[in-house]
Amino acid sequence: MATPYPNLLAPLDLGFTTLANRVVMGSMHTGLEDRLWHRKKLAAYFAERARGGVGLIITGGFNPNRSGWFYPFSGSMINMADALSHRIVTREVHKAGGKICMQLLHAGRYSYHPLSRSASAIKSPINPFKPKAMSTKEVERTVKDFARAAKLAKRAGYDGVELMGSEGYLINQFTAPRTNQRTDKYGGSSENRRRFPVEIVEAVRKACGKDFIVVFRMSMMDLVPGGSTREEILALAPELEKAGVTILNSGIGWHEARVPTIVTSVPRAAFADLTANVKDVVSIPVIASNRINMPDVAEGILASGKADMVSMARPMLADAHWVNKAAANQADEINTCIACNQACLDHTFKLQRATCLVNPQACFETELVYLKTRKPRKVAVVGAGPAGMSCATIAAERGHDVTLFDADDRIGGQFNMAARIPGKEEFWETIRYFGKRIEKTGVKLVLGRRIEHGELEKEGFDDVVIATGVLPRKPPIDGVNHPKVVSYVDVLRGEVEVGNRVALIGAGGIGFDVGEFLVHAKRASYKDAQSTESWLREWGVDFSSDAPGGLEKPDVEPPVREVYLLQRKTTSLGKDLGKTSGWVHRAVLQKKGVKMMKGCSYEKVDDQGLHILQGDEPVLLEVDTVVLCAGQESRKELYELATADKATAKGPSYHLIGGAELAAELDAKRAIRQGAELAAGL
Ligand code: FAD
Ligand code: NAP
Ligand code: SF4
Repeated sequence: MATPYPNLLAPLDLGFTTLANRVVMGSMHTGLEDRLWHRKKLAAYFAERARGGVGLIITGGFNPNRSGWFYPFSGSMINMADALSHRIVTREVHKAGGKICMQLLHAGRYSYHPLSRSASAIKSPINPFKPKAMSTKEVERTVKDFARAAKLAKRAGYDGVELMGSEGYLINQFTAPRTNQRTDKYGGSSENRRRFPVEIVEAVRKACGKDFIVVFRMSMMDLVPGGSTREEILALAPELEKAGVTILNSGIGWHEARVPTIVTSVPRAAFADLTANVKDVVSIPVIASNRINMPDVAEGILASGKADMVSMARPMLADAHWVNKAAANQADEINTCIACNQACLDHTFKLQRATCLVNPQACFETELVYLKTRKPRKVAVVGAGPAGMSCATIAAERGHDVTLFDADDRIGGQFNMAARIPGKEEFWETIRYFGKRIEKTGVKLVLGRRIEHGELEKEGFDDVVIATGVLPRKPPIDGVNHPKVVSYVDVLRGEVEVGNRVALIGAGGIGFDVGEFLVHAKRASYKDAQSTESWLREWGVDFSSDAPGGLEKPDVEPPVREVYLLQRKTTSLGKDLGKTSGWVHRAVLQKKGVKMMKGCSYEKVDDQGLHILQGDEPVLLEVDTVVLCAGQESRKELYELATADKATAKGPSYHLIGGAELAAELDAKRAIRQGAELAAGL
């Protein structure tokens, strides 16, 4: 059968070597890079992706010298011992048929230590350490350090290197006037600011010879005030080509940019046109990146000639076999990255090992192993939310005889509500993925059946897994039964009419999500994501802009309702949302005029609205609807009754996972991982 992805699966001939297809696994720091004792795990993680068919792997960033450390003792490529320690990585990847480049990254003013260096002594808004400006000699030495690191990477068996020139790291700090106020040959004019990256490429090429891949990741748009202009970016690309770059990769926005570039609300492939602009001015292959997560999206970019390759980092965490599945025309079996950042980037920024919300095996390849069982058991899983779906499909894959029950007429549990939030449409993909897994692994799915206490004991199950999730909390507020008061479940399921003025009680993840749901206009279908054009307008991004950094004035659609978001705590609202995504949720609601109120105590709800005390001051919010988003409580009575019931002593073993086990601080990351861990051990 002809493949629907001919461009994606076409080999790429680089002259001295050929890449098997157009998929690059983009660089991502996982936390396995920094310690020698993690090398075997790092090798297993990459080798699994090589077996999964990816054309070229790029490692997380390794620092070419100590001043470039992300944080003290982060992974570096400085001496022969460093190089030798990587042999296991390159050997395992090559054995699996893959190709791999090491990314070389000098963090510059993003270094989290007091020895940090940059083009100029200008502190970053996201780092407490102020860098020292490098002397001219230091800059020249750093060029040599990059060349030495590349040569060592070659000795380690890498097929090439990627030079990290985007995202606001050191090289990018040299190219942009925002951070480069030097007066020597590396500062001032555009030509001078380009000198550092060009010299690095020349030195790397000279050190490593011509048959070595040199990828340069350049910033296609800085998205910060004082960033490079479009003209400067288009002038840099051909110079890099001339200096010896094999492939140009795309970086979008600095880490300190206040425009989101990878979170789930960014439309798919939103930035591919920027790569296309650069492709027009060079003759070497260019790679598009950011929010590319499914084969049809990747194929569309390549088929339209916007790029020669596509880079995916997080999607390769979510599914190591992404490419093989695309090649086998099984895109519907891909475990899609939903761009939540919860288990990858949020972990990295907290110095925890990265993994993946939808695939807890990622970066734990040698620890979380799903072996075929030699003693198949008859397993009932009650609840087809993330925890139950994860447990049921992995248990069945291992050879157990699994029946999955849900009271609802569909699988997915709370993900059916999450996916209805504007900007979270990707969550449908997880439901689709598990639906397909249920079918493929032979899980017997029973929908529309609410399991009652005592029912399953008669059906001969060896194990019963209770994954019944949570119930929304109904706080004891005077007037909580007033017709104005509804639960977020009623709102998201479309079971109630919501008025024009709304107060939300509770400002956790769900309060913020319901806020977004209520300020945006109702869409024809919940599966429709915002168009790229309107999204770019709302964030003030204009690809044709000549302004530094590419930023223009945002043009925000007015909200369709007046919304108040309230909490009792006196801390800032949204403080506990995801590290790398919380600021986006806060910014969206602020742009939409949502009034955020902290330190509230809820007095009563009546025909007038919601009466609160803010501090000591009584306030009446004259709202039409009050939505309760006040957290949840575990739904675990099946487990409690079964385990308390002596008659079941000889019956099945009971297990409790996900929200049913613990509602506090529950998220899908914990639910899916708990399901997987239980299933791996059954
Ligand atoms: P649930 O998803 O609650 O599933 C439990 C299932 O059990 C349900 O399908 C229910 O019908 C079934 N059930 C209950 N009792 C019975 C019974 N007696 N018999 C048969 N079936 C039964 N998490 C994140 O990590 N990131 C997010 O961005 C995120 N966004 C969210 C947005 C919204 C609007 C909501 C509501 C939740 C969001 N969550 C998010 C939370 C996430 O969805 C939950 O943590 C996760 O669904 C919990 O999984 P679970 O399997 O434990 O429970
Ligand atoms: P949550 O984050 O625990 O927030 C609950 C909110 O309700 C808090 O604002 C709390 O604030 C308030 N509250 C608690 N008890 C209350 C009471 N008795 N009366 C009034 N207010 C009360 O829970 P959630 O928002 O329901 O989210 C559930 C889980 O889903 C979260 O743990 C989260 O991880 C996950 N989720 C994640 C995302 C995401 O973007 N990553 C999005 C949605 C959901 P005060 O106590 O200060 O009033
Ligand atoms: Fe993608 Fe979320 Fe997994 Fe990260 S944790 S790889 S963003 S699905």
